Amino acid sequence: MFSSTNNSVSISVSDEESNENRIRARTRRKRKKPGHRTTFELPRYFLRIFLRYWIVLVFLLAVGLLLFESTRIITKSAKLKRSPDSIPNKKNEGNLNRLDPTTKVIGGVRQRCLKLLPPEELEHLDILERKDSSSPVKKLVYLTGTDSSSPVRVNGTTRFNLFTGNQTFTERENSFQVSETVSVHCGFFNENGGFRIKDEDKKFMQSCRVVVSTCAFGGGDNLYQPIGMSKASTQKVCYVAFWDDVTLAAQEAEDQRIGENGYIGKWRIVVVKDLPFVDQRLNGKIPKVDSKSQFRRDPLGVLDALLWRTNSVLAISEHGARSSVYDEAKAVVKKHKATPEEVEVQINQYRHDKLPEDKRFNGKKALCEASVIVREHTPSTNLFMCLWFNEVVRYTSRDQLSFPYVFWRLKVLKKVNMFPVCTRKDLVNSMGHPPRYERRSKFVTESGGGKSKSLTARRLVTRCFSSRPLHVCIVGSGPAGFYTADKLLKAHEGARIDIIDRLPTPYGLVRSGVAPDHPETKIAINQFSRVAQHERCAFYGNVKLGSDLSLSELRDLYHVVVLAYGAESDKNLGIPGESLGGVFSAREFVWWYNGHPDYSSLKPDLQSSDTAVILGQGNVALDVARILLRPTTELASTDIATHALSALEESSIRKVYLVGRRGPVQAALTAKELREILGIKNLHIRIKETDLSVTPADEEEMKSSRARKRIYELLSKAAAAEKGTSEGDCGQRELHFVFFRQPERFLESDESKGHVSGVNLEKTILESVGSGKQIAVGTGEFEDINCSMVLKAIGYKSVPVNGLPFHHKKGIVPNVRGRVVSGDISETEPGLYVCGWLKRGPVGIIATNLYCAEETVGSISQDIEEEGVGKGEKEGSKGLMQLLEKKEVKKIDFSGWEKIDAKEKQMGIDRNKPREKLVTWEDLLAAASADS
Ligand code: NAP
Repeated sequence: MFSSTNNSVSISVSDEESNENRIRARTRRKRKKPGHRTTFELPRYFLRIFLRYWIVLVFLLAVGLLLFESTRIITKSAKLKRSPDSIPNKKNEGNLNRLDPTTKVIGGVRQRCLKLLPPEELEHLDILERKDSSSPVKKLVYLTGTDSSSPVRVNGTTRFNLFTGNQTFTERENSFQVSETVSVHCGFFNENGGFRIKDEDKKFMQSCRVVVSTCAFGGGDNLYQPIGMSKASTQKVCYVAFWDDVTLAAQEAEDQRIGENGYIGKWRIVVVKDLPFVDQRLNGKIPKVDSKSQFRRDPLGVLDALLWRTNSVLAISEHGARSSVYDEAKAVVKKHKATPEEVEVQINQYRHDKLPEDKRFNGKKALCEASVIVREHTPSTNLFMCLWFNEVVRYTSRDQLSFPYVFWRLKVLKKVNMFPVCTRKDLVNSMGHPPRYERRSKFVTESGGGKSKSLTARRLVTRCFSSRPLHVCIVGSGPAGFYTADKLLKAHEGARIDIIDRLPTPYGLVRSGVAPDHPETKIAINQFSRVAQHERCAFYGNVKLGSDLSLSELRDLYHVVVLAYGAESDKNLGIPGESLGGVFSAREFVWWYNGHPDYSSLKPDLQSSDTAVILGQGNVALDVARILLRPTTELASTDIATHALSALEESSIRKVYLVGRRGPVQAALTAKELREILGIKNLHIRIKETDLSVTPADEEEMKSSRARKRIYELLSKAAAAEKGTSEGDCGQRELHFVFFRQPERFLESDESKGHVSGVNLEKTILESVGSGKQIAVGTGEFEDINCSMVLKAIGYKSVPVNGLPFHHKKGIVPNVRGRVVSGDISETEPGLYVCGWLKRGPVGIIATNLYCAEETVGSISQDIEEEGVGKGEKEGSKGLMQLLEKKEVKKIDFSGWEKIDAKEKQMGIDRNKPREKLVTWEDLLAAASADS
């Protein structure tokens, strides 16, 4: 859609599209039917044949049915056996970048549905501005909640918010009374509420005359680049995509990053803050090109074809399948797009307002979609959009109900071009939602911003269970565990959640994985701690699944068990010398400097030489390199474990080699983290110039990923900056990026038996393996790097527990959208779910767990509703307490953790640090049980 000070379009793809196709197919079949009844002989002949051979016919029919059924069963089981952890959604990928016109047969001639000017004329189109002076509305005054006499109910307790105001029925009624000046509550941007947009973004948008816009909130759809525009439109039209922070994180996790100029391809990305509504469906009502569509036509050409040439103020799409709001209401209920109760309230009001049942108004279809192109933002078109949005806020979020109602009721818009569905289809390539969309929340849950009163299916589930508890146990208290708990508490009023963890301390990777010099990432702890203190949630540390409790015991006690215990082991290289002293996994090193009680006595040798090698070029590799190279004065004021700080202060490591088996274009780093390490003071960056030369395949990779390109540029820039600088004095700190080398074996020291003295690396070249991917292949040429320590940063790995299906190669629990399935027979394990790295493998940042938890909780909700999960009596917490007591397990509850926390913070004050971590089991357990 376009939106601008002048023109705006909203193009959505109807849920009815598929139905429509079916109807058309049926009609065609009817037409093809042979129907020559030229002789009376023919029926008699067929009757004779039938009487003679009916037994054979029945037999053939039976065989046919049998074959059909068996094929169906085979197909179904093949589908089930397909890798359960992959969530395929390729159905619409073929639509991408299609430019072929949508056509229709009119009067026996096939014609284009959207009649654009020829390309050469499009190039000369200019924006046609013509003020609509005929409008009876001359001025629109926007009211906000604060103007209303009734008290303002703020976002979170109602669907009304500051800028829609607490509109009464009388105010609603008045808003439809047209006069020269209309005062109205409006659901779009307003100084008192609505999206917070950066000034520079506002300024940018104000400089545009035509804006094609799209939006994705809550981590939803992918961003599709517009195509098919003329050169003139490329220059005159702005493309703006609105994202929220969750989408930003989701896209970054998939390597879709905003360039420094603020763009991704043609789209200028505007990240909005303070989403005005808890219900994402309301936030997404920005007039836009639907995010599951790719805009594929010349924007100026579209304005010309649908508005300028017809001299219309609005162009609106007819509804694809039905003709009346009342029929649509029935369909909405049938398709579970809104609850019957919600729809009833809305439709009763429309009946009361005397909305006719007619299928046509003034010769035009009575039912339209909210696919609208607005010629210019005048008081009357703005009034129209405001009133429609107010209906969406008041009733269901179904545009198809409110839009035609407002269109009928507000009789000020005369020159309207109602265009057929086929024209709307021509504007976009419909892409469908990616798998991530399914995991996306309909609600903004981040801000802890209360509850929406919209009666969604999920809310109904809540009501069903409010009288009976749903006992849930979450294993693992890291981000995945806490996000799951948070979302479950919000989705199910009856949920009673116990989070158990093998450590006495909560927060998993946030405490023991996030680097100490990244305190901002640890802020998530505030949210997690609020969850832990929720009246329906409890934390029990020092309880280990597998040894203290078995999985079957947990499943007996709880209706729902969610495993979110992450990845506590490492991928191995499987090469000689891997068990030599001085070869550690990056995880071990990270746990050491973060004071994890299992690794506080690791004692890495940082003094025998000046060189360390890190294998792998991901963000974990960067973390450990940074800790090794950053001046310790900068680490001293972080929460780094004191034993690690002391060892680093004594460290003689000055050179760190970061070794990747592929090239600079493929390094698994992110720009922010790379910039951070490149910015360390007095650190010299070494990159071989030959490693920076790129092949056509590399160019292709960079073309399809701005993130890759950015990394490459940063590395090239760093290499150029160091060019000509001397190899330096011996104390100088150096970070060497070594590309195209894979580890062949670890070398054993002659002087110190059993200890590593270097790594033997094989040179590699890249080979394309299709779909733009290149893999490293050994060349048979080798070289050594001598060092006293090697950190393998090639990825984490999860570990199974008894009775849990496990995919050993992938190191994950096989699952379908978080539902655990048995590996071999692909059967869902009732009430057993998984979330986080254990579910999807060791990739992604903390925020990635947000939508991972969203998906798992979505599956749980659905299973409660449809599969009977949650039925029957379970003992929950009470049973857990008894079992732990019987087994003499000394659990640490949240108040125990609070004692640890208080002690650590107190000790931190003495050392000028945010906290001084307790790093042994004994100290942690003692602090937890100390008298307060
Ligand atoms: P990663 O991003 O998957 O990187 C693993 C690295 O190891 C890659 O360079 C990979 O190379 C290499 N590798 C894997 N197997 C190898 C083998 N057999 N031989 C040689 N090299 C091998 O994993 P990670 O660094 O452990 O990070 C895990 C996740 O946490 C990532 O999503 C990361 O972004 C996230 N994280 C984020 C932050 C942050 O945002 N600050 C910090 C830490 C971690 P290939 O590409 O060739 O496979």
